[in-house]
Amino acid sequence: MSRPLIRASSKASMQNLSEKQMKYEFIIDDFTLRRGSPVLLSICCIRCDSHLFFYQKDGPGPLLRCYFDRILAPEKMKNLHLNSNNNIPTTLLCHNCSSKIAEKGIYQKENRKIYLLVQENFSIKELENKHET
Ligand SMILES: [Zn+2]
Repeated sequence: MSRPLIRASSKASMQNLSEKQMKYEFIIDDFTLRRGSPVLLSICCIRCDSHLFFYQKDGPGPLLRCYFDRILAPEKMKNLHLNSNNNIPTTLLCHNCSSKIAEKGIYQKENRKIYLLVQENFSIKELENKHET
């Protein structure tokens, strides 16, 4: 196995990342096929560098929004799109410093629930680039 690609400087909290990321299977569906190869991203708070969640981004381009059905971890943030009782907070805050990371919304074009990211407040660590199609 080759080492995962981590662009940002390693921190103690990143130690077990290669182990962790092995657990995540990419979701492959029509959206993935349309957009291109998925990449596993670690979304972090830019202010305090806390890890927030793991996200599967399909295809190239800047990360503007996070589709609920592509959040791979933690467990409590998985499958938010299946949550029908509307109790998902409107804003996603950093659990450590309460910085506003994203706002809940809907991507009208595809009618998918999303977190619209606040661009200044998060950073991305790319962990894996799987291309096996
Ligand atoms: Zn923070």
